[in-house]
Amino acid sequence: LGDSLQGALRKLIGANRIDENVVNEVVKDIQRALLTSDVNVKLVMDMSKRIKDRSLKEEPEKGADPREHVVRIVYQEMIGIMGKGANIELKPQTIMMVGLQGSGKTTSVAKLARFFQKKGLKPAVIGADNFRPGAYQQLKILCDKLNVHFYGEEGEQDAVGIVERGLKDIEKYDVKIIDTAGRHALEADLIAEMEAINNKAKPDQKFLVLDAAIGQQAGVQAKAFNDSVGVTGIIITKLDGTAKGGGAMSAVAEINAPIAFIGTGETPDDFEKFDADRFISRLLGMGDLQSLLEKVQDSMKESDMNVENIMKGRFTLNDMYAQLEAMNKMGPLKQVMKMLPLGSMGLGGAKLSDKDLDETNVKMKAFKIIMDSMTEDELNDPKIISSHRIQRIARGSGRSPEDIRELLKYHKNMQNAFKNFAGKGGGRNMQKMMK
Ligand code: GDP
Ligand code: MG
Repeated sequence: LGDSLQGALRKLIGANRIDENVVNEVVKDIQRALLTSDVNVKLVMDMSKRIKDRSLKEEPEKGADPREHVVRIVYQEMIGIMGKGANIELKPQTIMMVGLQGSGKTTSVAKLARFFQKKGLKPAVIGADNFRPGAYQQLKILCDKLNVHFYGEEGEQDAVGIVERGLKDIEKYDVKIIDTAGRHALEADLIAEMEAINNKAKPDQKFLVLDAAIGQQAGVQAKAFNDSVGVTGIIITKLDGTAKGGGAMSAVAEINAPIAFIGTGETPDDFEKFDADRFISRLLGMGDLQSLLEKVQDSMKESDMNVENIMKGRFTLNDMYAQLEAMNKMGPLKQVMKMLPLGSMGLGGAKLSDKDLDETNVKMKAFKIIMDSMTEDELNDPKIISSHRIQRIARGSGRSPEDIRELLKYHKNMQNAFKNFAGKGGGRNMQKMMK
């Protein structure tokens, strides 16, 4: 499969030499895209220089056209700055939110509570915003809706005192989330309050919440909060709007903290783990560049599947998802796909029809939502998913228990198909297929 696809791609793009004009032209496109996405000017200029140098110096990948060669380097440079995102551990922990007023802290507290709740952990929230009128009610209502335990003291002026008493109140919960007050600007009393809460609660995570529209101010804010409490992760909110969130890139560059989550709407479910590839696509968001970028990202992505384990008969839900995703990515190459015999992979007939491909798409979306409500243990070893757990996953994902059972059945079928395939000595073919 790998070879035939690469051959097809190579034909599509042709081969060309790298010359300085092409490099300059692409770099100019990139600069324009990043600057309109609010990426810091100095960051863009520094990056441009490195991109130019590397593009001319480095040998293009075999079969890559000049634009693709440059875009590949752009991608590497951007990943170098942004990182791949934070690692969110699913274990008991204390989280503190920091950020200016209106950035989306309180909304993100509810989203975080929901995130951990879906994973089977018990979250509880402390509302320590005594600055904004109505803050107590806002958070209480959000928590009540989610059935999340909330501790707050309406009218109390001492934020540190609320946190101290709150931590006692929510002692027995797994994930303790502390909402704090913001201000309109970085003021000394805000910073002092954050430091005092930080010293009292000693949180494991300190999330800086940034509005996607923040623009060039992001670096300054990030530095101020980082200097006072030590930011461990960034949440970018309102990415459902028109702002591209380029400011966040300056924040990351400034304080070297990874982006953990993004907010994509006002409800507690509009929340996703940060995906660097998607974010970079969005920053560069221009037709031609973007499709080139996607190609580069695909070719650089190693298979997420653990082939060795699969050969030993261990085929996890994550493996299944990676397999479906790989197939889905090839959407534009439907024609190529349709010529491949995939029956051995448990996907129906000997060849894939358009209808099969569309159905896979719909299924994947549903599977993803369900899998988001599973714990790592469950994803790695679906055998442990008892009917009690099925109920919990159904509640968390808003799906019926039948939907969860269907996913498990689908997984079982694929697992059996792989077992048969491996048993018939298809191991080497399979390795190749997943490249
Ligand atoms: P805080 O002052 O930092 O606590 O900010 P809030 O959580 O109160 O949010 C300020 C406003 O932004 C509210 O109207 C939220 O509904 C809205 N908001 C927060 N996150 C998002 C998001 O991801 N998308 C959208 N569209 N609105 C958001
Ligand atoms: Mg708030």
